[in-house]
Amino acid sequence: MKIGFISLGCPKNQVNCEQMLWQAHAAGHEIALEAEDCDLAVVNTCGFLQEAKQEALDEIERLCTLKREGRLGRVIVAGCMAQRYREEIETLCPEADGFVGTGGYESIAQVIAETEAGKRPHHFGDIDAAVPETDRVVATSDHWAYLRIAEGCDNRCSYCMIPSIRGKFRSRPMEAILEEARSLAECGMKELIIVAQDITRYGLDLYGRRRLADLLQELCQVEGIAWIRLHYLYPDEIDDALIALIAKEEKIVKYLDLPIQHISTKILKAMNRRGTGEDIRALLTKLRREIPGLVLRTSLICGFPGETEEDFEELCVFLREYRLERAGIFPFSLEEGSAAYTFPDPVEDEVKRRRLELLTEIQLDVVDAYCAAQVGKSVLLLCEGFEPESGRYVGRSYAESPDIDGCIYIEGEEDLIPGEFYRVRVTEAVDGELIAIREEA
Ligand code: SF4
Repeated sequence: MKIGFISLGCPKNQVNCEQMLWQAHAAGHEIALEAEDCDLAVVNTCGFLQEAKQEALDEIERLCTLKREGRLGRVIVAGCMAQRYREEIETLCPEADGFVGTGGYESIAQVIAETEAGKRPHHFGDIDAAVPETDRVVATSDHWAYLRIAEGCDNRCSYCMIPSIRGKFRSRPMEAILEEARSLAECGMKELIIVAQDITRYGLDLYGRRRLADLLQELCQVEGIAWIRLHYLYPDEIDDALIALIAKEEKIVKYLDLPIQHISTKILKAMNRRGTGEDIRALLTKLRREIPGLVLRTSLICGFPGETEEDFEELCVFLREYRLERAGIFPFSLEEGSAAYTFPDPVEDEVKRRRLELLTEIQLDVVDAYCAAQVGKSVLLLCEGFEPESGRYVGRSYAESPDIDGCIYIEGEEDLIPGEFYRVRVTEAVDGELIAIREEA
């Protein structure tokens, strides 16, 4: 059978999808990254926020339309949305042929076989089971890949449903991660992007202590890997040893994704986040001091219940002062089943929208100033390939994480090699994107 896979949502979902691709391939199926003209399509959904649920439902509707038109055989709904709404998923997706939850990814070959036999299977599995050590087909790129080091989360932020969708925090054994890293390097990967819901907690469940620094030290020894990028560090778990390691190890890029969510201590407390606004400010100052050239990414929520004009103003002042180079800003989303669902003092939608606009404006100014400051600088860039629409090669420096940050366009080059590193000089900044020319080799 020809089976198409579509992955929605975050990098962790992407890894699950890549593992399902491998299992379908190992079961003898032809695999594709699109649904049309396939015998079956698997859509790996996100279910974290209402917006993600809607995106998943829209995609499922698109697939079911293809099915009705005879351009697709069957549809399997997998992942976070199926897991979160498992009781009502059949009603939500009446035309889908099978369902796989976040604890059931390993059963995908069986689910495919059951749909072929005319059944309508549900495989939800155990969301707290050990992380499956399944092979995968990397579908992101030939030169960078996500490396998932843990699954689930124990943090219980009051707005977040992830612990109930993805289970408790479970680290992968260090040897399994290193083996995967070596095999990715052998396949030509140059950059590994370390992901988990909270990478700073790595090892606590398996080894009784946090071992992210140990793991990173080992990963730096993997031959062929040039860049190691860290996504999703919980602020209060970043200790001095980890900071020193990041500063010292050349392979660990000076880019950290540190979701802080807010800066008002009152709101952080209501969010059930550990630490205060002062702790976050002190950490950021320390990180900037200890890691020269550091680029910081964060995510922020505005309009959380009880957020007053004063709390919001504190967030605006913080963004202007601390000038984080990258920020994802989201309006609070009321999620049924989360602790915050019943919180008093909701912020009106109109106010939430205005706050989101204001924060976005502030952040755009920060990004523009950052980009303007890059002009004239010499940077090492990983070539991503040729972009036909712009007629130019594109690449990323350590400051751009794939898929979420912009890229750097390289002018006047006709034969660069994707996956190779080049030194370029930034010549211009346009709407948050950088333009560069190659320096003499
Ligand atoms: S750290 Fe908080 S926001 Fe992030 S996945 Fe865990 S509970 Fe959700």
